[in-house]
Amino acid sequence: MAIERTLSIIKPDAVGGNHIGAIYSRFEEAGLKIVGAKMLHLDDEKAGGFYAEHKERPFYNDLVSFMTSGPVVVSVLEGENAIAKHREIMGATNPAEAAEGTIRKDFASSIDENAVHGSDSAESAKREIAYFFNEDEVLDRTR
Ligand code: GDP
Ligand code: MG
Repeated sequence: MAIERTLSIIKPDAVGGNHIGAIYSRFEEAGLKIVGAKMLHLDDEKAGGFYAEHKERPFYNDLVSFMTSGPVVVSVLEGENAIAKHREIMGATNPAEAAEGTIRKDFASSIDENAVHGSDSAESAKREIAYFFNEDEVLDRTR
């Protein structure tokens, strides 16, 4: 299996709930390495641009307003099969449907406030990492 990189966002509800460390532990326990990290307070333009693919959806305005409601932690995760592995440990978009032991099952309260984001494909991972990180902000942790 290939070593991949994927983008994680710990959303404002989970940062506000003081769950950054608990969520980072889930990543590390799953064998994912944090190779880039920053805390940001997104504005409408940055959050709206990130979710541009959802611009026509009825929940877009609520999503942007939630994502700008407080600080987020954006991270680059690296590991074998990282994109799918990350999505698996996150759980379903709607926490009511998320499997036991997943991040969204344990830390999310609703589909609107669902604790974490993860890239859903190799193409989106590449685009989303570049949206938040310069090349020199993603570190080599192979040694
Ligand atoms: P994800 O990849 O699992 O995060 O899900 P999507 O890419 O489909 O949606 C992006 C984000 O929009 C989700 O994480 C939710 O925060 C929000 N969202 C998605 N679907 C709905 C919905 O039906 N209603 C509301 N209120 N928010 C939604
Ligand atoms: Mg998505």
